[in-house]
Amino acid sequence: MSADEHRDAASPGDAASAYEHEVKALLREAGVPVPRGVVVRDLDFGPAAELAEPLVLKAFGPGLVHKSDAGAVVLGLTSGELPAAASAMAARVPAPIAGFLVEEQAEAGVELIVGLVRDPAFGPVLLAGLGGVWAEALRDTALRLCPISEQDARAMLGSLRGAALLDGHRGSPPVDVDAVVKLLMTAGGPGGLWERLDLGEFELNPVVATPSGVVAVDARHLPG
Ligand code: ADP
Ligand code: MG
Repeated sequence: MSADEHRDAASPGDAASAYEHEVKALLREAGVPVPRGVVVRDLDFGPAAELAEPLVLKAFGPGLVHKSDAGAVVLGLTSGELPAAASAMAARVPAPIAGFLVEEQAEAGVELIVGLVRDPAFGPVLLAGLGGVWAEALRDTALRLCPISEQDARAMLGSLRGAALLDGHRGSPPVDVDAVVKLLMTAGGPGGLWERLDLGEFELNPVVATPSGVVAVDARHLPG
C-alpha cells in the first residue's frame, strides 16, 4: 500500500489499537513484504480497481479480532464483486464494522507464522513456525532470543518438524528460503522490528512463502 493509502495509519502512540492495515503500513516501512491494498470506509470501492485481481475483502472494527471466524474475510473476488460482497459481509459480521481492507490475493504457498514477543525473563524473542490453519493444530515453532543472526534464522527453519514443506514436496517447487530468512532478519535481526517491541508484540500469521518470495497476508499488534 502506498503511504497515501495509509494516511490514517496509526502513529506509534496509537499502536495499541492498530488495525491490520495500520500494522501492515508499519511492517511495509520496516521492509516486510505485505499485499498491495486500499482502505475503504465509505463503501466507494472505486480505488480497488487499481489492484490486481483476485482480491481479498476484509472488514475491520474494534471488536473484530479473528476475522475469518466472524465471516469477515472473503477471497477470490473481482473488483466488480466488492460492493455486494461487502454488504453481505456487513449483514453477517456480528460486530461493528469501521471499514474494509481490500487487498491483492497472494498466490498459495506454505503458510508460516512469525511472531515477536517479550518474554518476562529473557526479553525480546522471535518465533517462527508453521502458520495459518496448521499453527494451532501442530504447534511447530522455533524460538530465539533477539537479535538473531542469519545462521540462527536458517537453524530455526531447519529445526521445524515441517521443514521439508519449505524444500518442496510431492512435486511442488521449493519456497524462496532466502526470502524467509530475510524476513526473519527484518523481524528479529540487528536493528529489526524487535527493537519496537515497546509498542507491543507482533504476530504475522500467515506469512505466505512461495518459490518467488514471501508476503505477510495478516498481521496483528498486541498492546505492549
Ligand atoms: P484472521 O483474522 O481470521 O486470521 P486473515 O487475515 O489471516 O484473518 O485471513 C484468513 C486467511 O485468509 C489467511 O489465513 C489466509 O489463508 C487467507 N488470506 C488472507 N489475506 C490474504 C491475501 N491477501 N492473500 C492470500 N490469502 C489471504
Ligand atoms: Mg490470520
